[in-house]
Amino acid sequence: MNTQTGEPSFRQSVDLMFTRAAALMDLPPGLEEKIRVCNSTYTVRFGVRLRGDIHTFTGYRSVHSEHTEPVKGGIRYAPSVNQDEVEALAALMTYKCALVEAPFGGSKGGLCIDPRHWDTDELEKITRRFAYELIKRDLIDPAQNVPAPDMGTGEREMAIIADQYARMHTTDINARACVTGKPIHAGGIHGRVEATGRGVQYALQEFFRHPEDVAKAGLSGTLEGKRVVVQGLGNVGYHAALFLSTEDGCKVTHVIEHDGAVENAGGIDIVALRDWIVRNGGVKDCPFGTYHEDGARVLEAECDILIPAAMEGVINMHNAAAIKAPLIIEAANGPVTAGADEILRNKGTVIIPDLYANAGGVTVSYFEWVKNLSHIRFGRMQRRQEESRHQLIVDELERISRDSSINWTLSPGFKDKYLKGAGELELVRSGLDDTMRAAYQSMREVWWSHDKVSDLRTAAFLVSIDRVAKSYTAKGI
Ligand code: GLU
Repeated sequence: MNTQTGEPSFRQSVDLMFTRAAALMDLPPGLEEKIRVCNSTYTVRFGVRLRGDIHTFTGYRSVHSEHTEPVKGGIRYAPSVNQDEVEALAALMTYKCALVEAPFGGSKGGLCIDPRHWDTDELEKITRRFAYELIKRDLIDPAQNVPAPDMGTGEREMAIIADQYARMHTTDINARACVTGKPIHAGGIHGRVEATGRGVQYALQEFFRHPEDVAKAGLSGTLEGKRVVVQGLGNVGYHAALFLSTEDGCKVTHVIEHDGAVENAGGIDIVALRDWIVRNGGVKDCPFGTYHEDGARVLEAECDILIPAAMEGVINMHNAAAIKAPLIIEAANGPVTAGADEILRNKGTVIIPDLYANAGGVTVSYFEWVKNLSHIRFGRMQRRQEESRHQLIVDELERISRDSSINWTLSPGFKDKYLKGAGELELVRSGLDDTMRAAYQSMREVWWSHDKVSDLRTAAFLVSIDRVAKSYTAKGI
């Protein structure tokens, strides 16, 4: 129970959503419980000597389901990290991976720490020690458990974890595959940093390809001109807002940050705002629109699409009824509580659920893991061969045009675009787009065909639980 809102805890909230969907299924006795429960949570308390004192830190690595291994999920650094949260996030990873067909079980880690409180060297010491504690228990391992970034962590921490693993497993040729979200020079993949935000964009593009689905939210048309409210301009919110505004014609009218919100009906310049936040620590006094001190109230602003991209539980039983957005896409994990979900469902709000909407991150992590195991960058073998085949066609077209009386030319830019073979970034984006489209189709099919399913979340859970159940059954469990 969350003592502040009187609502179930995050983990209970995820379980309630799971149970709601599982009740519509015909699972063998006992299997529902086996899938729902978290397999294990390891708690570690370790000391690091910093600033002349020994500081004790508490960390967790939770494994929700090992129906397929390795298990996968990020490591979060935040003062609020606790066991309940880590277990809820690990469960979401299980369902997320199943939905996007990433061959992983679900896991998550967390460290109770305020990363802003420590400098880079201190954070390296802390991360190395935390990684050491997890590695020696096989809770970081390319074949068993593969972490990634989450709130408060990024490429730097992942590079440290990979290095720590390599030091402890000097002959493991697959050492780099022990963690994803690494920088490029440490075995990372192009497109991983933008991946979750990019996935949110692809999810919305796919949603708007189906006018009947769009109509369920009381909207029409395309993404062009849609008014968007974004909560949290961290890595996920920033990339989602950036791509939607610069590539799809959306207008980001409100951005909510930890110190308030900024509003501009004409659309906010996301790059400029992010720069401002990095330099000034918040949105207060920024010159890009009207400032509102009460950021939480701005979640209730008139808009077409609301994108919560920060913490869990921000849309809860206290504010759900006041939310005006007809369409919510959950870029964060668990931003809508089970109680709020019910209120919004009854109001007819369409929610594109977290286990689908933010799966872009783990999808590209999957590509990175495969890249590390295959020891070759995507596109390295095919790119130039593809380019020379395209060159053949262009040469032939030009020859035909020269030798015949038809007077035509290729449109400007066509040649350059057509001749350019796909590099790693293009392939990653293509794989991510395909994944997001396929996962939406599987969810949508249930949404439209199952007479007891009225929302995308339940549809998504049904698809995921079914896949996990089949995997357990195939193992004889
Ligand atoms: N932390 C991200 C998530 O919640 C990414 C996980 C991963 O890439 O393994 O999905």
